Amino acid sequence: MSMDTRIKHSFALTSRYKPHYPQRCGEALDEALYSTQAYDAWRTLDPGRASPVFSRFAALPALTKRELRTRGPQGFVPHDRDIAEGLTAHEIELVATSGATGDQVTNVWYQPWWNASEAASWQLNAHARAVATGAHREAILSSPWCVGFPFEDGYLTMEQRTLGRFLFLSERSDPSSWSSDLMDRMVGELNTFKPIVLEANPSFLARLSRHIVKRRLHVHSPALIVLTYENPSVLHRRQIGRAFDVPIASSYGATEAGYVFMECEAGRLHQVTTTCHVDFLPFAPEHGGPDVGRILVTIFGNPWRSLVRFDIGDVVRLDGHAPCPCGRREGLTLMSVEGRTVNLTVTPEGRAVTQGAVDQALGSVAGLVEYQILQTGSSAYHLRFAAEGAALRPVANDACDALQTVYGPAAVITADPVEAIAPDPPGKYCLSKKLEPIDPDGLLDDQFSPSEL
Ligand SMILES: [Zn+2]
Repeated sequence: MSMDTRIKHSFALTSRYKPHYPQRCGEALDEALYSTQAYDAWRTLDPGRASPVFSRFAALPALTKRELRTRGPQGFVPHDRDIAEGLTAHEIELVATSGATGDQVTNVWYQPWWNASEAASWQLNAHARAVATGAHREAILSSPWCVGFPFEDGYLTMEQRTLGRFLFLSERSDPSSWSSDLMDRMVGELNTFKPIVLEANPSFLARLSRHIVKRRLHVHSPALIVLTYENPSVLHRRQIGRAFDVPIASSYGATEAGYVFMECEAGRLHQVTTTCHVDFLPFAPEHGGPDVGRILVTIFGNPWRSLVRFDIGDVVRLDGHAPCPCGRREGLTLMSVEGRTVNLTVTPEGRAVTQGAVDQALGSVAGLVEYQILQTGSSAYHLRFAAEGAALRPVANDACDALQTVYGPAAVITADPVEAIAPDPPGKYCLSKKLEPIDPDGLLDDQFSPSEL
């Protein structure tokens, strides 16, 4: 390979940052390369401190979940801090992410950094900035296996599900099996607890919202709904909007990396530049690039964790064409998070299709309330769907027509109605998936793809 093809480009050069930002990036990078064991082998690829920091990032590999797992938490603790001592001093905890497919990672959890990252994200949305103080009452509706108190065989009291200023609305992780009584209880608790912020898995809150609308229940309006834990579907947002007449913001991050993007009041997602840097790796044009691509996250200022170019596993769509009406200009701005790489499907011709593209197409199908599309072969797609307030056959026909526009005339699409769709463990909905997963590295524009060790 000639040297020219080895030079990798950085998308960060096209973004605007505050003057001190490149320095923070450089500090995070130097700490990783020179004071953190897990990055020892990366040092030989670093073009050195004399090079611009974004070029230094671009010359490095991506950090995968597999490496987080094999190196273990101690490998990512800088400056020889000792995890055992941190645990004894109650300064940190060890938290395992609840991955379902053998990709569980144990993370060092340092609460002050997490809180700072969350507070920084609030600054990127006018409603959050106005009401989120860090002392506000917050109700949470998500899988109790991700956060809260799981109890699948019985029920817990409201007191048992309350922790300080947080109320966890459900101890049950499968909304498709929630009883009417359980959802009535959630509404009653929202009315007595009166949260300022309601934080929710969009699919979970959508299920509750459909119940509220169907039963015409009165429900307390929080000042803000924050959607997190999974990528919201157009359908979910619409169902939530019918039950709650309040601002909705999507917050994007990961247990490993903290808060990475926050949706502003104008509906775009802004990078949390105070606590992270994001490298954008565009897909090749035939797969939706250069606006669609993957992201790698580097975190700042966590004394217990050095994370550089972490492949967070999601696909995003940039919004680089016009400044956001909210006036925020710093860092990467996204039009949307398009779903995870494991949610990618392909057309019969082999072109990548994001979960977001599928969702946009199905979002206009009247009567469709939940769906899941599985690509079973190179040109075969199977849709499972739930409908409400509409006959099944026209919903199926409209959904198949919408999918045909996405996958093209050669696609063979079948559809089956179901009562409801259950989330995958530990409680996240999968909207689209290919039975044989795609290699996401093969979709990248080679000029930007991460270097190999
Ligand atoms: Zn904005």
